[in-house]
Amino acid sequence: MIFGAGALGQLADEVARLGIRRALVLATPPQRGRAERIAAILDTDSAVIFAEAAMHTPLAVTERALVALQHGGADGLVTIGGGSTIGLGKALAVRTGLPHLAIPTTYAGSEMTPILGETDQGVKTTRRDPAILPRSVIYDVGLTLSLPAALSASSGINAMAHAVEALYATDGNPIIALMAEAGIAALARALPVIVRDPQDRAARDDALYGAWLCGACLGAVEMALHHKLCHTLGGSFDLPHAQTHTVILPHVIAYNAQAAPDAMARVARALGSADPARALYDLTGRLGATRALRDLGMKQDDIARAARLACANPYPNPHPVTEEAIRALLSRAWAGEPPQS
Ligand code: NAD
Repeated sequence: MIFGAGALGQLADEVARLGIRRALVLATPPQRGRAERIAAILDTDSAVIFAEAAMHTPLAVTERALVALQHGGADGLVTIGGGSTIGLGKALAVRTGLPHLAIPTTYAGSEMTPILGETDQGVKTTRRDPAILPRSVIYDVGLTLSLPAALSASSGINAMAHAVEALYATDGNPIIALMAEAGIAALARALPVIVRDPQDRAARDDALYGAWLCGACLGAVEMALHHKLCHTLGGSFDLPHAQTHTVILPHVIAYNAQAAPDAMARVARALGSADPARALYDLTGRLGATRALRDLGMKQDDIARAARLACANPYPNPHPVTEEAIRALLSRAWAGEPPQS
């Protein structure tokens, strides 16, 4: 992992260290210009571009990228972008065994995890495999300056969600707890500054540091109710990833508050408030983020089905999960009401 302002300057050396002679450079369509810049750094003769990455790693896109990989004769992968692009890099790496270097430009944290979520015809499946983890990551704060204020806010809260759930994970440990608390605190400090001034380099540095910590938490331990709900809402109702996390997180903190007191004490300390659920709800409001699922396009009629899907398979969570309670939680989140314990 290489972290710092100007870290992109180490790209060519790192690509060589991984033994990549001809890279397939991946990006989303709006970030094609960045992929071209990466190709230029690597020397355009030794790079091929595929700029069609999309949210939730659709299988059809992966299949097209595999064709581009074979036609281009690439022997390694370089991804520049958020979780969508890095997800595509992971999907290709796990199928081909090729080395993958990730250059994240959001706070989603996918680069630090051996987790891959893929969608095929509206069904999202997720797996964990050490072969999915990128071999190298370059964090360069300069690449995050262009992330719009609204996306910075929701992406930052998405990162916080990894750390919150790591604090009450059944396989958690004291080191992860330290990283999680530090990650939440860094993002809580940085996000209000970034929303006021997206060009503030110190705050961007702090946020990227926090995102790295939170991503490492996600990669290390099992997630619970929050991630299950967001996975369901994203995969089955096509709601946008980071924004959905931002709406749901205060409600899940409230839901688990009594059952996970040690974890909540750390979240409270990181947010500087005795009531972390309310503090986070207020913070998202101050950041100007969407606080209601209905504003993300979810229909009220879908609440019952979402609750049923989210409860279909049992999974560990500090507070017992019942369909009725999840329906109530989702109803509040749908309407944008404050969280309730
Ligand atoms: P994203 O990658 O979809 O990016 C959102 C938009 O922001 C895109 O249009 C992208 O082009 C643009 N963008 C990205 N960086 C930018 C920048 N610096 N400046 C300007 N525009 C920029 O969004 P995301 O929230 O990073 O990722 C969401 C996806 O990642 C979902 O599919 C989610 O499931 C996945 N994810 C996976 C993991 C994991 O561990 N497997 C972790 C987190 C997220």
